[in-house]
Amino acid sequence: MSNCEHSWSTPGRKLNLDTVLDDWLGPTLALVHCEDCREPAVLHLVTWRGTSLNERIYAARVVDTLIRDTYLANIARDYCDLTRKASETEALINACHEDAQLVLMTTPGMLVEAVSAGSFNPPVIPWQEIKTETFDDWMKFLLV
Ligand SMILES: [Zn+2]
Repeated sequence: MSNCEHSWSTPGRKLNLDTVLDDWLGPTLALVHCEDCREPAVLHLVTWRGTSLNERIYAARVVDTLIRDTYLANIARDYCDLTRKASETEALINACHEDAQLVLMTTPGMLVEAVSAGSFNPPVIPWQEIKTETFDDWMKFLLV
């Protein structure tokens, strides 16, 4: 499993998201799983630019399958309680792997365009606070 080149790390692949947790003109926080080894990951938006903000750099953080499943069960049960959902989501993100890979994707197709060679730990911030000005700085870490 650890030597799998996950589907989110493979330029040219399209990701089918499992659950979109937040969005603005496209996903900003989502759950996905690798189509090869089924390992789950959280995608959170790091920066964006372009028409309809369609060029998006996400951090892909691997998460334990059991933690993912527990999260999904909890939010399904408490779907009408938004405060509870927000705290469950925060707990999910905190339980993710600290080493994230940066992935450039274009919406709406969620096509992987480029990935980072190394791993990073960018902050998880709400899309309302994400600035287009940071795009070029993050883009330096991606292999195009
Ligand atoms: Zn994989």
